Amino acid sequence: MDSQRAPVQFARSAMRVLILGGTTEASALALLIAGDARFDATLSLAGRTVSPRPQPIATRIGGFGGAEALARWLRDEKIAAVVDATHPYADRISANAVFACRDAGVPLASIVRPPWQAEPGDQWQTVPSTDAAVTALGTAPRRVFLSLGRQELAAFAAAPQHRYLARTVDLPQGIALPPDTRVLQARGPFDRAAEEKLLADEKIEVIVSKNSGGSAIYAKIAAARALGLPVVMIARPDKPAGHPVASPDAAVAWLLHDVPRSPRGV
Ligand code: NAP
Repeated sequence: MDSQRAPVQFARSAMRVLILGGTTEASALALLIAGDARFDATLSLAGRTVSPRPQPIATRIGGFGGAEALARWLRDEKIAAVVDATHPYADRISANAVFACRDAGVPLASIVRPPWQAEPGDQWQTVPSTDAAVTALGTAPRRVFLSLGRQELAAFAAAPQHRYLARTVDLPQGIALPPDTRVLQARGPFDRAAEEKLLADEKIEVIVSKNSGGSAIYAKIAAARALGLPVVMIARPDKPAGHPVASPDAAVAWLLHDVPRSPRGV
């Protein structure tokens, strides 16, 4: 071939992507782009779970050391795009991601999981914080189901009059729990019939939950409705976001079509 007339060929290396995770959406996105030569992705986890599920892409675990350190990490690792797929209540890492991406000039998309909406029959009392949820339980002793992260359980030590059933992914260690607490170690997804049975068998009178959204752990909310149980719902924090995307598939489309690519892909 006449080299003078050959089209210019750029060597396109894979786009380096950081996925901030800890959610089913982050795992789904990792699965979607695993083995796709167009991407070289790393999944970052906070390290809240002792044994996280195995992931099909490179994984790093633990904090970056704040927003400026995250910005440095993005530059050092030549990250071309970040997808924030963190939990709706993980607002600090999202604020850090917004700052760091702006600082390092890296595009950021955020998978925004819609909250659950109350339906007819739901008896939700929405409160602004975990401490407010403790107060909302009242002074009279009740049988309470806590479906929260283990870090949030300590707040309920301020209301020792209640009997608690706490369900967490890992057993709480080094946390001062209320005296009458039984911990059930389990990881979702949970089934509606099994949730109804658990709540009935345990004679639960009130549930404390975050409005996590999604389907994996919604069964407890549907079970509460069926049983006529009240739910103390801790409101979502304000969570800073980049370009909002609705799903892991939409995040892939954003990476492919909206992230500017230099000739070498970085
Ligand atoms: P957070 O308050 O937003 O983050 C606290 C710090 O943890 C961040 O500043 C960051 O440390 C580190 N971090 C968080 N997510 C990270 C990630 N994906 N990769 C690397 N570092 C990360 O979040 P949280 O303390 O994990 O959780 C807050 C709420 O979200 C709780 O209600 C929790 O139950 C809920 N939640 C979190 C997860 C999860 O996977 N994180 C899952 C389910 C529910 P540096 O500043 O040092 O970078």
